[in-house]
Amino acid sequence: MTKELFKKIDGYRDFIIDIQTKMTACPAISPHEGGLGESAKAEVLLKVLKSMKFDEIKVLNVKDKKSPTGVRPNIVAKYYGKNRQKTLWVMAHMDVVPPGDLSLWKTDPYKVVVKGDKIYGRGVEDNQQGLVSGLLAVKAMMELGIRPPVNYALLLNADEEVGSDFGIIAVLKQYGNIFGKNDSFFVPDGGNSDGTMIEIAEKNLLWMKFTVKGKQTHASMPNTGVNAFVAGSALVIALRDLYKKFNKKDKLFGDVSYSTFEATKAEANVPNVNTIPGQHIFYLDCRVLPSYDNDKVIAEIKRIAKTIEKKYKVTVKAEALISEKSLPTNKNAEIVKLTEQAVKAVYHNKPVVQGIGGGTVSAYLRNAGFPAVVFSKLDDTMHQPNENSSIKNTMGDAKVFVHVAMNFK
Ligand SMILES: [Zn+2]
Repeated sequence: MTKELFKKIDGYRDFIIDIQTKMTACPAISPHEGGLGESAKAEVLLKVLKSMKFDEIKVLNVKDKKSPTGVRPNIVAKYYGKNRQKTLWVMAHMDVVPPGDLSLWKTDPYKVVVKGDKIYGRGVEDNQQGLVSGLLAVKAMMELGIRPPVNYALLLNADEEVGSDFGIIAVLKQYGNIFGKNDSFFVPDGGNSDGTMIEIAEKNLLWMKFTVKGKQTHASMPNTGVNAFVAGSALVIALRDLYKKFNKKDKLFGDVSYSTFEATKAEANVPNVNTIPGQHIFYLDCRVLPSYDNDKVIAEIKRIAKTIEKKYKVTVKAEALISEKSLPTNKNAEIVKLTEQAVKAVYHNKPVVQGIGGGTVSAYLRNAGFPAVVFSKLDDTMHQPNENSSIKNTMGDAKVFVHVAMNFK
């Protein structure tokens, strides 16, 4: 049966180009970034979905005053399986990032151009490739009259690029009852070019801002001031101790198997060389292994800051700008095991189940208790000029989804 489904998917080149062209022509940029939102693109997709044999199609609107339509649409399209109590979801997002500097584009970002295996245009990879793969898998099942063991559903979100407040976060909050406790998720919105990365965990994200206050004075009279830059620099070095305090390792995260605590941005202080700055502001980017609690890290950071306050006679305000936990998906979860098998069967490679330091929308699903796998074979041209997507990979990923869907219990 899988063979027939694979063969069917191999025949979808024209369909892929057609739907990619229609979607790309609707620039779904967030209204919070000066765009028109996802409504036009959602209409295009609804037309396609309604022409197929889905058993349920729903639009989950989330209110957004900034959107010209007043809402941000999230679409659910479900194809029933033999067991309707359980659903395998493929979640993709409809919104795209702006094209950036147009002079860097060789073609119109909103007009699809096809060259051999490659489709060019804004959004064709991020996240239309994953969206189309998810769609092809169910299209093949429908056209062959095959019902998978469990439901297969698409969840097409708004607002992934600008924080997901009107996308998956709102869907989980306002429409959470559409999900069942045994459901699993595919998020084809990240991967590598050989299709070996099966991502099941992410580090907790923690961004800290430090405002160090001393006393400004003339550089020739340091005795009359307190140098905030010097104190801040001492704090930067003292914060390196976080590496020793939170030193657990987790092989799942590969080369960077440990938590990271890196000083990154510093704000400009005084504009001239002969003034001792009374204020110094800098930031720390922390990627914390999921086995640690961010609050414990913040407490330790504040303790270190106190020692600097005492030693340098400054005040230090340490604030967490972002603190997001990220529960991992169990590496023995059904969807993880099935994805490993499917990737091997389709791409004949050696996939690696792993964690990453960056954050994706799958964290919201994992934190809500659902097993979620991020997988896609892609060249990572997302957000770049001349973004492109491989038709072969689109078909390949569709086969991975079909393989997983047909083997679900
Ligand atoms: Zn994306």
